[in-house]
Amino acid sequence: MAGVAKKEKTNDFIKFLGTAGARFVMIKQLRASAGIWISCKGTNVLIDPGPGSIVRCSTSKPKLDPSKLDAIILTHRHLDHSGDINVMIEAMTEGGFKKKGVVFCPPDVINQDNIILKYVMNFPEKIEILEAHKNYRVGGFSFKTSMKHIHPVETYGIKFALNETSVSLLSDTRYFKELSDFYKTDVLIIAVVFFEPRPGIDHLCLSEAEQLINQIKPKKAILTHFGMTMLKAKPHIQAENLSKKFGIEVQAACDGMTLDF
Ligand SMILES: [Zn+2]
Ligand SMILES: [Zn+2]
Repeated sequence: MAGVAKKEKTNDFIKFLGTAGARFVMIKQLRASAGIWISCKGTNVLIDPGPGSIVRCSTSKPKLDPSKLDAIILTHRHLDHSGDINVMIEAMTEGGFKKKGVVFCPPDVINQDNIILKYVMNFPEKIEILEAHKNYRVGGFSFKTSMKHIHPVETYGIKFALNETSVSLLSDTRYFKELSDFYKTDVLIIAVVFFEPRPGIDHLCLSEAEQLINQIKPKKAILTHFGMTMLKAKPHIQAENLSKKFGIEVQAACDGMTLDF
């Protein structure tokens, strides 16, 4: 449990149900690929329910009840972010018997080779399409989308606040310098897939994440979404090195890690 604010604690939290990034760590389940659960003023939101999300909710300690979800956000359609989208919608809507909740996703999730099954499409109250630089809201949770990321499919990161602490989630992308403008927040959660640069593949490597952390200077940075090479390089050691280098708290996420606000 890591506190990020000196303010009086609320019940708001972020729980990392999974920290796997990209194909092989997901396929081998070296880390879980279950997404991130956010609870904000009693509103529950699941971001990027990859394969195993439903399982990780029920084995989480304490258990997370997907029927308590108010929304599911997909940052993009790749399988490691969306594998359990259908079953999570079914769970959110109590088997489809209770029409509720919102699914937020980029347009290509449903317009192109729809990854949400036809019979599941009508279960949520609403499917809201994400666009760049727009504000969205569900219950007590508001968030803003980033610019379009550079990734093979339409991808957005998001920014929100929990108990007056600003938090951003920087999803899959190739590095570009404008990223640091949008992601200026107290807490930066950043997807670091590669240890070494892999030109031509639209993911961040550690040195690019380092560059962004240095530009953004958050109070706390959390590395997650690890690919094979990052896992081999031991994320917690890399995080420790960055903490020393920048004097910023840098932490490597692990499956089940919770941040309280
Ligand atoms: Zn990914
Ligand atoms: Zn991706």
